Amino acid sequence: TDTVVVVGAGLAGARCAGALRAGGLRSRIVLLGDEPHAPYDRPPLSKDVLLGKADATTLDIDWAHLGVDLVTGRRATALEPGVLHTDAGELPYGSLVIATGAAPVALPGADRAHLLRTVDDALALRALLRPGARIVLVGAGWIGAETATVARALGCEVTVVEAGPTPVPGALPARVGAAMTAWYREAGVDLRCGAVVASVGPHEVLLADGTRLAADEVVVGVGARPATGWLAGSGVALDAAGAVLVDERLRTSLPGVLAAGDCVSYPSARSGTRLSVQHWDHALQSGAAAAASLLGLETPYDPVPYFWSEQFGRMVQYAGRHTDGDDLLWRGAPGDPAWTVLWLRDGRLRALLAVDRPRDLTQGRRLLERGAVLDPARAADQAVPLKAA
Ligand code: FAD
Repeated sequence: TDTVVVVGAGLAGARCAGALRAGGLRSRIVLLGDEPHAPYDRPPLSKDVLLGKADATTLDIDWAHLGVDLVTGRRATALEPGVLHTDAGELPYGSLVIATGAAPVALPGADRAHLLRTVDDALALRALLRPGARIVLVGAGWIGAETATVARALGCEVTVVEAGPTPVPGALPARVGAAMTAWYREAGVDLRCGAVVASVGPHEVLLADGTRLAADEVVVGVGARPATGWLAGSGVALDAAGAVLVDERLRTSLPGVLAAGDCVSYPSARSGTRLSVQHWDHALQSGAAAAASLLGLETPYDPVPYFWSEQFGRMVQYAGRHTDGDDLLWRGAPGDPAWTVLWLRDGRLRALLAVDRPRDLTQGRRLLERGAVLDPARAADQAVPLKAA
Protein backbone atom coordinates (compact mmCIF):
# COMPACT_ATOMS: atom_id res chain seq x y z
CA THR A 1 0.00 0.00 0.00
CA ASP A 2 1.09 3.58 -0.52
CA THR A 3 -1.54 4.90 1.90
CA VAL A 4 -0.32 7.65 4.22
CA VAL A 5 -1.86 7.41 7.68
CA VAL A 6 -1.70 10.47 9.92
CA VAL A 7 -2.37 9.49 13.54
CA GLY A 8 -3.85 12.29 15.66
CA ALA A 9 -6.29 14.77 14.16
CA GLY A 10 -5.08 17.86 15.99
CA LEU A 11 -3.41 20.87 14.41
CA ALA A 12 -0.17 19.11 13.45
CA GLY A 13 -1.98 16.14 11.91
CA ALA A 14 -4.49 18.33 10.08
CA ARG A 15 -1.79 20.58 8.73
CA CYS A 16 0.29 17.60 7.60
CA ALA A 17 -2.62 15.92 5.79
CA GLY A 18 -3.58 19.18 4.07
CA ALA A 19 0.02 19.92 3.03
CA LEU A 20 0.49 16.42 1.62
CA ARG A 21 -2.46 16.95 -0.69
CA ALA A 22 -1.47 20.52 -1.53
CA GLY A 23 2.03 19.23 -2.28
CA GLY A 24 0.67 16.95 -4.98
CA LEU A 25 0.54 13.57 -3.23
CA ARG A 26 -1.92 11.30 -5.02
CA SER A 27 -2.11 8.32 -2.69
CA ARG A 28 -4.85 7.73 -0.16
CA ILE A 29 -4.50 9.86 2.99
CA VAL A 30 -6.19 8.80 6.22
CA LEU A 31 -6.36 11.33 9.08
CA LEU A 32 -7.31 9.41 12.20
CA GLY A 33 -8.11 10.82 15.65
CA ASP A 34 -9.68 9.59 18.86
CA GLU A 35 -11.76 12.69 19.58
CA PRO A 36 -15.32 12.70 18.24
CA HIS A 37 -14.68 16.02 16.47
CA ALA A 38 -13.15 17.19 13.21
CA PRO A 39 -9.78 18.95 13.78
CA TYR A 40 -10.08 22.18 15.76
CA ASP A 41 -7.92 24.88 17.29
CA ARG A 42 -7.02 24.72 20.99
CA PRO A 43 -5.75 28.22 21.89
CA PRO A 44 -9.28 29.73 22.01
CA LEU A 45 -10.38 27.01 24.48
CA SER A 46 -8.86 28.85 27.45
CA LYS A 47 -9.90 32.23 26.03
CA ASP A 48 -13.07 32.82 23.94
CA VAL A 49 -14.61 29.37 24.41
CA LEU A 50 -14.27 29.45 28.21
CA LEU A 51 -15.56 33.01 28.19
CA GLY A 52 -18.65 32.02 26.21
CA LYS A 53 -17.74 34.04 23.11
CA ALA A 54 -17.32 30.92 20.93
CA ASP A 55 -18.65 27.37 21.08
CA ALA A 56 -16.56 25.66 18.43
CA THR A 57 -13.17 26.30 16.86
CA THR A 58 -13.30 23.74 14.04
CA LEU A 59 -10.67 24.31 11.36
CA ASP A 60 -12.24 25.61 8.17
CA ILE A 61 -11.16 22.71 5.95
CA ASP A 62 -13.38 20.57 3.72
CA TRP A 63 -11.73 17.17 4.19
CA ALA A 64 -13.87 15.34 1.65
CA HIS A 65 -13.15 18.01 -0.94
CA LEU A 66 -9.42 17.72 -0.19
CA GLY A 67 -9.62 13.98 -0.64
CA VAL A 68 -8.56 13.18 2.91
CA ASP A 69 -10.36 10.35 4.72
CA LEU A 70 -11.04 11.86 8.13
CA VAL A 71 -11.74 9.14 10.69
CA THR A 72 -12.85 10.46 14.09
CA GLY A 73 -13.53 8.61 17.34
CA ARG A 74 -10.93 5.96 16.61
CA ARG A 75 -7.86 5.38 18.75
CA ALA A 76 -4.48 4.06 17.69
CA THR A 77 -3.44 1.30 20.07
CA ALA A 78 -0.17 -0.07 18.67
CA LEU A 79 2.22 0.21 15.76
CA GLU A 80 4.22 -2.39 13.86
CA PRO A 81 6.05 -1.94 10.56
CA GLY A 82 3.40 -1.45 7.88
CA VAL A 83 0.37 -1.84 10.15
CA LEU A 84 -1.37 0.51 12.56
CA HIS A 85 -3.55 -1.17 15.17
CA THR A 86 -6.61 0.71 16.35
CA ASP A 87 -9.53 0.07 18.67
CA ALA A 88 -11.58 -0.67 15.54
CA GLY A 89 -9.24 -2.91 13.58
CA GLU A 90 -5.97 -2.77 11.64
CA LEU A 91 -4.91 -0.21 9.06
CA PRO A 92 -2.05 -0.98 6.66
CA TYR A 93 0.17 1.97 5.75
CA GLY A 94 2.98 2.85 3.41
CA SER A 95 4.03 5.92 5.41
CA LEU A 96 2.77 7.10 8.77
CA VAL A 97 2.91 10.38 10.66
CA ILE A 98 2.62 10.38 14.45
CA ALA A 99 0.80 13.53 15.60
CA THR A 100 -0.92 12.44 18.80
CA GLY A 101 0.04 15.61 20.68
CA ALA A 102 0.17 15.74 24.45
CA ALA A 103 -2.13 14.86 27.33
CA PRO A 104 -2.45 17.04 30.43
CA VAL A 105 -0.80 15.81 33.61
CA ALA A 106 -3.35 15.00 36.32
CA LEU A 107 -2.82 15.33 40.08
CA PRO A 108 -2.68 11.89 41.68
CA GLY A 109 -5.80 11.19 43.71
CA ALA A 110 -7.61 14.30 42.42
CA ASP A 111 -10.23 12.61 40.25
CA ARG A 112 -12.71 15.42 40.58
CA ALA A 113 -10.25 18.08 39.41
CA HIS A 114 -10.81 19.38 35.89
CA LEU A 115 -8.22 19.36 33.11
CA LEU A 116 -8.36 21.65 30.09
CA ARG A 117 -7.22 20.15 26.81
CA THR A 118 -10.25 19.43 24.62
CA VAL A 119 -13.26 21.43 23.48
CA ASP A 120 -15.40 19.13 25.62
CA ASP A 121 -13.24 19.97 28.65
CA ALA A 122 -13.69 23.68 27.91
CA LEU A 123 -17.48 23.48 27.51
CA ALA A 124 -17.85 21.40 30.70
CA LEU A 125 -15.69 23.81 32.70
CA ARG A 126 -17.43 26.90 31.34
CA ALA A 127 -20.77 25.68 32.73
CA LEU A 128 -19.20 25.70 36.21
CA LEU A 129 -17.64 29.17 36.12
CA ARG A 130 -20.64 30.92 37.68
CA PRO A 131 -20.46 34.26 39.52
CA GLY A 132 -19.30 33.66 43.09
CA ALA A 133 -18.07 30.12 42.43
CA ARG A 134 -14.88 29.39 44.36
CA ILE A 135 -12.32 28.15 41.85
CA VAL A 136 -8.92 26.81 42.84
CA LEU A 137 -6.44 26.58 39.98
CA VAL A 138 -3.39 24.40 40.44
CA GLY A 139 -0.42 25.73 38.45
CA ALA A 140 0.39 29.33 37.47
CA GLY A 141 1.53 28.38 33.99
CA TRP A 142 0.17 29.72 30.71
CA ILE A 143 -3.10 27.80 30.91
CA GLY A 144 -3.54 28.57 34.62
CA ALA A 145 -3.10 32.30 34.00
CA GLU A 146 -5.54 32.31 31.08
CA THR A 147 -8.12 30.30 33.00
CA ALA A 148 -7.75 32.62 36.01
CA THR A 149 -8.29 35.60 33.70
CA VAL A 150 -11.54 34.17 32.33
CA ALA A 151 -12.80 32.93 35.70
CA ARG A 152 -12.36 36.43 37.17
CA ALA A 153 -14.08 38.01 34.17
CA LEU A 154 -17.03 35.69 34.84
CA GLY A 155 -17.17 36.75 38.49
CA CYS A 156 -15.64 33.72 40.18
CA GLU A 157 -13.48 33.87 43.31
CA VAL A 158 -10.13 32.60 42.14
CA THR A 159 -7.15 31.18 44.01
CA VAL A 160 -4.08 30.00 42.10
CA VAL A 161 -1.77 27.56 43.83
CA GLU A 162 1.76 27.41 42.43
CA ALA A 163 4.54 25.17 43.77
CA GLY A 164 7.31 27.34 42.31
CA PRO A 165 8.45 30.71 43.69
CA THR A 166 6.83 32.74 40.87
CA PRO A 167 4.41 32.18 37.95
CA VAL A 168 5.60 30.03 35.01
CA PRO A 169 8.60 28.72 36.96
CA GLY A 170 9.39 26.07 34.37
CA ALA A 171 9.71 28.48 31.46
CA LEU A 172 10.84 31.80 32.96
CA PRO A 173 13.49 32.79 35.51
CA ALA A 174 12.12 34.03 38.85
CA ARG A 175 13.14 37.64 38.07
CA VAL A 176 10.83 37.65 35.08
CA GLY A 177 8.05 35.55 36.63
CA ALA A 178 8.04 37.92 39.62
CA ALA A 179 6.97 40.74 37.30
CA MET A 180 3.76 38.81 36.61
CA THR A 181 2.64 38.37 40.22
CA ALA A 182 1.21 41.91 40.26
CA TRP A 183 -1.07 40.98 37.34
CA TYR A 184 -2.77 38.34 39.47
CA ARG A 185 -3.15 40.75 42.40
CA GLU A 186 -4.60 43.52 40.22
CA ALA A 187 -7.09 41.06 38.74
CA GLY A 188 -8.24 40.11 42.24
CA VAL A 189 -6.73 36.63 42.08
CA ASP A 190 -5.29 35.15 45.28
CA LEU A 191 -1.93 33.83 44.01
CA ARG A 192 -0.09 31.51 46.39
CA CYS A 193 3.41 30.68 45.25
CA GLY A 194 5.56 28.07 47.00
CA ALA A 195 2.35 26.21 47.85
CA VAL A 196 2.08 22.48 47.29
CA VAL A 197 -1.22 20.62 47.03
CA ALA A 198 -1.43 17.71 49.46
CA SER A 199 -4.92 16.50 48.53
CA VAL A 200 -8.13 17.51 46.81
CA GLY A 201 -11.32 16.85 48.79
CA PRO A 202 -14.96 17.21 47.72
CA HIS A 203 -15.16 20.90 48.70
CA GLU A 204 -11.61 21.94 49.43
CA VAL A 205 -7.96 21.76 48.53
CA LEU A 206 -5.56 20.86 51.31
CA LEU A 207 -2.05 22.32 51.02
CA ALA A 208 1.10 20.64 52.35
CA ASP A 209 1.45 23.36 55.04
CA GLY A 210 -2.01 22.51 56.41
CA THR A 211 -3.89 25.42 54.76
CA ARG A 212 -7.40 24.51 53.61
CA LEU A 213 -8.79 26.34 50.58
CA ALA A 214 -12.54 26.16 50.00
CA ALA A 215 -13.15 25.05 46.44
CA ASP A 216 -16.34 24.51 44.46
CA GLU A 217 -14.22 23.47 41.49
CA VAL A 218 -10.56 22.60 41.06
CA VAL A 219 -8.75 23.01 37.76
CA VAL A 220 -5.30 21.53 37.21
CA GLY A 221 -2.87 23.10 34.72
CA VAL A 222 0.54 21.67 35.51
CA GLY A 223 1.74 20.73 32.06
CA ALA A 224 1.24 18.04 29.45
CA ARG A 225 3.14 14.91 28.46
CA PRO A 226 3.52 13.46 24.96
CA ALA A 227 0.60 11.12 24.19
CA THR A 228 2.86 8.31 23.00
CA GLY A 229 2.03 5.40 25.33
CA TRP A 230 0.46 3.58 22.37
CA LEU A 231 3.92 3.35 20.74
CA ALA A 232 5.27 0.97 23.40
CA GLY A 233 7.01 -1.97 21.74
CA SER A 234 6.81 -0.38 18.27
CA GLY A 235 10.51 0.31 17.86
CA VAL A 236 9.85 4.06 17.61
CA ALA A 237 12.50 5.61 19.89
CA LEU A 238 11.23 7.96 22.61
CA ASP A 239 13.13 10.21 25.02
CA ALA A 240 12.83 9.97 28.82
CA ALA A 241 9.78 12.27 28.80
CA GLY A 242 8.04 10.11 26.20
CA ALA A 243 8.58 12.45 23.23
CA VAL A 244 9.20 10.83 19.84
CA LEU A 245 12.84 11.31 18.82
CA VAL A 246 13.00 12.60 15.26
CA ASP A 247 15.83 13.84 13.05
CA GLU A 248 15.99 17.26 11.37
CA ARG A 249 13.49 16.07 8.77
CA LEU A 250 11.09 14.74 11.37
CA ARG A 251 11.83 11.07 10.68
CA THR A 252 11.57 8.63 13.59
CA SER A 253 13.77 5.58 14.16
CA LEU A 254 11.24 3.45 12.22
CA PRO A 255 11.53 3.65 8.40
CA GLY A 256 8.59 5.42 6.76
CA VAL A 257 7.35 6.80 10.09
CA LEU A 258 7.56 10.55 10.82
CA ALA A 259 6.26 12.66 13.69
CA ALA A 260 5.17 16.28 14.29
CA GLY A 261 3.69 18.61 16.90
CA ASP A 262 3.54 18.48 20.69
CA CYS A 263 4.67 14.83 20.78
CA VAL A 264 8.15 15.23 19.22
CA SER A 265 11.68 16.07 20.26
CA TYR A 266 13.69 17.44 17.33
CA PRO A 267 17.32 18.51 16.99
CA SER A 268 17.60 22.29 16.72
CA ALA A 269 20.96 23.39 15.34
CA ARG A 270 19.85 26.97 15.99
CA SER A 271 19.32 26.27 19.69
CA GLY A 272 22.24 23.83 20.02
CA THR A 273 20.00 21.21 21.63
CA ARG A 274 16.96 19.01 21.10
CA LEU A 275 13.66 20.81 21.59
CA SER A 276 10.20 19.63 22.61
CA VAL A 277 7.83 22.48 21.92
CA GLN A 278 4.19 22.37 22.99
CA HIS A 279 2.87 25.42 21.19
CA TRP A 280 0.56 26.23 18.30
CA ASP A 281 3.13 27.63 15.86
CA HIS A 282 5.33 24.54 16.16
CA ALA A 283 2.34 22.23 15.60
CA LEU A 284 1.47 24.14 12.44
CA GLN A 285 4.99 24.39 11.05
CA SER A 286 6.18 20.90 11.96
CA GLY A 287 2.99 19.42 10.48
CA ALA A 288 3.81 21.12 7.18
CA ALA A 289 7.48 20.14 7.49
CA ALA A 290 6.61 16.46 8.02
CA ALA A 291 4.56 16.59 4.82
CA ALA A 292 7.46 18.25 2.95
CA SER A 293 9.85 15.61 4.27
CA LEU A 294 7.52 12.81 3.08
CA LEU A 295 7.30 14.49 -0.31
CA GLY A 296 11.10 14.35 -0.53
CA LEU A 297 11.97 17.98 0.18
CA GLU A 298 15.32 18.39 1.88
CA THR A 299 14.77 21.41 4.13
CA PRO A 300 15.66 20.75 7.76
CA TYR A 301 13.05 21.75 10.35
CA ASP A 302 14.48 24.42 12.67
CA PRO A 303 12.30 27.55 12.97
CA VAL A 304 12.64 30.15 15.73
CA PRO A 305 10.18 28.80 18.35
CA TYR A 306 7.28 31.16 19.06
CA PHE A 307 4.19 31.29 21.24
CA TRP A 308 1.76 33.72 22.78
CA SER A 309 -0.53 33.83 25.78
CA GLU A 310 -3.36 36.23 26.55
CA GLN A 311 -3.61 36.86 30.26
CA PHE A 312 -5.01 39.58 32.53
CA GLY A 313 -5.69 41.83 29.55
CA ARG A 314 -2.13 41.51 28.28
CA MET A 315 -0.63 39.96 25.18
CA VAL A 316 2.43 37.98 26.21
CA GLN A 317 4.67 36.73 23.38
CA TYR A 318 7.88 34.76 23.44
CA ALA A 319 10.29 33.84 20.66
CA GLY A 320 13.57 31.92 20.63
CA ARG A 321 15.03 29.80 23.38
CA HIS A 322 16.96 31.04 26.40
CA THR A 323 19.15 29.05 28.76
CA ASP A 324 20.26 29.72 32.31
CA GLY A 325 23.62 31.28 31.50
CA ASP A 326 22.23 33.95 29.12
CA ASP A 327 22.41 37.66 30.00
CA LEU A 328 19.02 39.12 30.81
CA LEU A 329 18.26 42.63 29.60
CA TRP A 330 15.11 44.63 30.43
CA ARG A 331 13.60 46.93 27.86
CA GLY A 332 11.31 48.93 30.12
CA ALA A 333 10.66 48.22 33.81
CA PRO A 334 8.68 45.25 35.18
CA GLY A 335 6.09 47.64 36.64
CA ASP A 336 5.47 49.40 33.29
CA PRO A 337 2.27 48.63 31.42
CA ALA A 338 4.37 47.20 28.57
CA TRP A 339 7.90 45.79 28.65
CA THR A 340 10.21 43.34 26.96
CA VAL A 341 12.92 41.09 28.29
CA LEU A 342 15.81 40.06 26.05
CA TRP A 343 18.17 37.13 26.56
CA LEU A 344 21.64 37.61 25.05
CA ARG A 345 24.66 35.35 24.82
CA ASP A 346 27.96 36.94 23.77
CA GLY A 347 25.88 39.88 22.56
CA ARG A 348 23.79 37.66 20.29
CA LEU A 349 20.01 37.68 20.78
CA ARG A 350 18.79 34.25 21.97
CA ALA A 351 15.19 34.90 23.03
CA LEU A 352 12.73 37.61 23.99
CA LEU A 353 9.52 37.94 25.97
CA ALA A 354 7.31 40.86 25.00
CA VAL A 355 4.39 42.05 27.11
CA ASP A 356 2.06 44.24 25.05
CA ARG A 357 5.03 45.09 22.80
CA PRO A 358 4.07 43.30 19.55
CA ARG A 359 6.53 45.34 17.52
CA ASP A 360 9.44 44.21 19.70
CA LEU A 361 8.30 40.65 19.10
CA THR A 362 8.15 41.04 15.32
CA GLN A 363 11.49 42.80 15.13
CA GLY A 364 13.09 40.44 17.66
CA ARG A 365 11.90 37.40 15.76
CA ARG A 366 13.64 38.64 12.62
CA LEU A 367 16.83 39.33 14.57
CA LEU A 368 16.66 35.82 16.03
CA GLU A 369 16.31 34.35 12.56
CA ARG A 370 19.52 36.14 11.52
CA GLY A 371 21.36 35.38 14.77
CA ALA A 372 21.95 39.13 15.15
CA VAL A 373 24.26 40.79 17.69
CA LEU A 374 22.69 43.68 19.66
CA ASP A 375 24.14 46.73 21.34
CA PRO A 376 22.86 46.25 24.92
CA ALA A 377 22.57 49.98 25.72
CA ARG A 378 20.49 50.65 22.63
CA ALA A 379 18.43 47.47 23.01
CA ALA A 380 17.47 48.55 26.54
CA ASP A 381 15.99 51.82 25.24
CA GLN A 382 12.27 51.34 24.51
CA ALA A 383 12.23 54.50 22.43
CA VAL A 384 14.41 53.00 19.66
CA PRO A 385 13.31 50.03 17.58
CA LEU A 386 15.14 46.76 18.17
CA LYS A 387 17.87 46.36 15.60
CA ALA A 388 21.23 44.74 15.03
CA ALA A 389 24.37 46.50 16.32
P1 FAD B 1 -3.00 18.03 19.79
O1 FAD B 1 -3.65 19.32 19.54
O2 FAD B 1 -2.95 17.51 21.19
O3 FAD B 1 -3.68 16.95 18.85
C1 FAD B 1 -3.43 15.57 18.98
C2 FAD B 1 -4.69 14.80 18.71
O4 FAD B 1 -4.38 13.42 18.71
C3 FAD B 1 -5.75 15.00 19.78
O5 FAD B 1 -6.99 15.21 19.20
C4 FAD B 1 -5.71 13.68 20.56
O6 FAD B 1 -6.96 13.37 21.15
C5 FAD B 1 -5.35 12.72 19.45
N1 FAD B 1 -4.78 11.46 19.95
C6 FAD B 1 -3.98 11.26 21.03
N2 FAD B 1 -3.66 9.95 21.16
C7 FAD B 1 -4.30 9.30 20.15
C8 FAD B 1 -4.37 7.94 19.75
N3 FAD B 1 -3.69 6.97 20.41
N4 FAD B 1 -5.11 7.63 18.67
C9 FAD B 1 -5.78 8.60 17.97
N5 FAD B 1 -5.75 9.89 18.31
C10 FAD B 1 -5.00 10.26 19.39
N6 FAD B 1 -0.25 27.45 22.08
C11 FAD B 1 0.15 28.71 21.80
O7 FAD B 1 1.16 28.90 21.13
N7 FAD B 1 -0.57 29.79 22.24
C12 FAD B 1 -1.70 29.64 22.99
O8 FAD B 1 -2.32 30.65 23.38
C13 FAD B 1 -2.13 28.33 23.31
N8 FAD B 1 -3.25 28.13 24.06
C14 FAD B 1 -3.63 26.86 24.38
C15 FAD B 1 -4.76 26.67 25.18
C16 FAD B 1 -5.18 25.39 25.54
C17 FAD B 1 -6.39 25.21 26.40
C18 FAD B 1 -4.42 24.27 25.09
C19 FAD B 1 -4.85 22.87 25.48
C20 FAD B 1 -3.30 24.44 24.31
C21 FAD B 1 -2.90 25.74 23.94
N9 FAD B 1 -1.76 25.95 23.14
C22 FAD B 1 -1.37 27.23 22.83
C23 FAD B 1 -0.95 24.81 22.66
C24 FAD B 1 -1.38 24.32 21.28
O9 FAD B 1 -2.76 24.26 21.20
C25 FAD B 1 -0.77 22.94 21.05
O10 FAD B 1 0.61 23.10 20.98
C26 FAD B 1 -1.27 22.28 19.78
O11 FAD B 1 -2.64 22.00 19.89
C27 FAD B 1 -0.52 20.98 19.52
O12 FAD B 1 -1.04 20.37 18.37
P2 FAD B 1 -0.82 18.82 18.07
O13 FAD B 1 -1.57 18.55 16.83
O14 FAD B 1 0.61 18.49 18.17
O15 FAD B 1 -1.48 18.06 19.31
